[in-house]
Amino acid sequence: MTLGLPGLPARLYPATPTRLLTWLDCPRRYRMTYLDRPAPARGAPWAHTSIGTAVHQALSDWWALPVPERTPGSAARLVAARWRGEGFRDHDQSARWCTRVAQEVGAYALTQDPSSEPRGVERTVAARTPVLALSGRIDRLDERDGELVVVDYKTSRRPLADVDARTSLALAIYAVGAAQVFRRPCTAVELHHIPTGRVLRHEHTPQSLRRKVSEAESIAVDAARADAVYAAGAPDDDLFAPRTGPLCGWCDFRAHCPQGAAAAAAREPWAALEP
Ligand code: SF4
Repeated sequence: MTLGLPGLPARLYPATPTRLLTWLDCPRRYRMTYLDRPAPARGAPWAHTSIGTAVHQALSDWWALPVPERTPGSAARLVAARWRGEGFRDHDQSARWCTRVAQEVGAYALTQDPSSEPRGVERTVAARTPVLALSGRIDRLDERDGELVVVDYKTSRRPLADVDARTSLALAIYAVGAAQVFRRPCTAVELHHIPTGRVLRHEHTPQSLRRKVSEAESIAVDAARADAVYAAGAPDDDLFAPRTGPLCGWCDFRAHCPQGAAAAAAREPWAALEP
């Protein structure tokens, strides 16, 4: 298996979890996201993305505060300070959700030990395998009882499934990257669901992490092949076939994809917030 030219060192495929999963979800969306230049214009901003951004930024700001200021109240205020309100139906809906999300983040902050110092917040980690240059940004990397723990915040209204932490390719890649950057084992991964405060934890083994890296490599081999065909100037519609389904209604590139537009009705930008 090579990703380069014969006789030359193989070029490592630059893999983030999002890039790999985009290829898996829909090769056409992958092409529009990572290869087509100029990139096609994306659709309107989503309210649920606005919420996710505000929450991640607020929690990052919160950990940067001096310890005495890391209170639930300050966490809620930081959400309001970071709120941009894009994608909501109107000002009232945005204001209602800002209050609600600020309360959720305040309640979550109450469950955290403000005196602990994360090893990293919004920390980029990277690792190399024979075919991959993996990288990713970890929401938070804790050190608890001498153990590194990857923490990923989730803000979706959808409840987490019990298997989510175990099966997450992104969490496994973060753990592998953290281990390589900090030169010590990192096997514990956690999803923190901010709307409910629920924490899902999984303890990987070296074997399970190796399996996840193999999974990433196998996805990357296909994506790299498609990249090479595209770079050679022969965009191949079959290679980048649209993978239609209900998620097309949420796709940023739906307006450029007749097959996706036919497969699912467009969603309102705030639709993910409704029951
Ligand atoms: S609309 Fe659907 S098929 Fe088209 S690019 Fe988006 S996800 Fe893929």
